[in-house]
Amino acid sequence: MSLHGDYDDQNIFAKIIRGEAPCVKLFEDDVAIAFMDIFPQAKGHCLVVPKEPARNLLELSEDAAAEAMKRVKALAAAVEKALQPDGVTVVQFNGAPAGQTVFHIHIHVIPQWEGQALASHGGGKQADMDELNALADKIKAAL
Ligand code: 5GP
Repeated sequence: MSLHGDYDDQNIFAKIIRGEAPCVKLFEDDVAIAFMDIFPQAKGHCLVVPKEPARNLLELSEDAAAEAMKRVKALAAAVEKALQPDGVTVVQFNGAPAGQTVFHIHIHVIPQWEGQALASHGGGKQADMDELNALADKIKAAL
């Protein structure tokens, strides 16, 4: 079943959590890390990644889910303050049929502006690193 299975600790977010792969980090504490999505659906698209080794929300502990949501709210508020979008989408995909592509639980925070369509999920092109760092600096300043 795609929603349950062995956790693969070689997935890219596990490597980022361990510091083995780079990311444009927004914050990190003992339970979660947040960083910029490298194939953003909109400018400022970022991710909250609980550190617990769980594939998806169904496998995440209640405590980690609750802690993650506190950080999602804080990040959404920082994105609002920093980038002044007209809307913010908070979304989370469980299992490949639902659109999940990285099998370590994460929550998307995606700012949106009136009249600007989102790039498709999984279809975004790689961000310009200077622009990504500049957006991250603004979001961090608002945290
Ligand atoms: P999912 O489809 O699993 O919900 O979302 C995975 C997200 O991770 C996608 O939005 C994708 O753009 C992003 N992503 C994939 N690989 C990397 C990476 O190496 N670094 C970062 N920062 N984001 C990634």
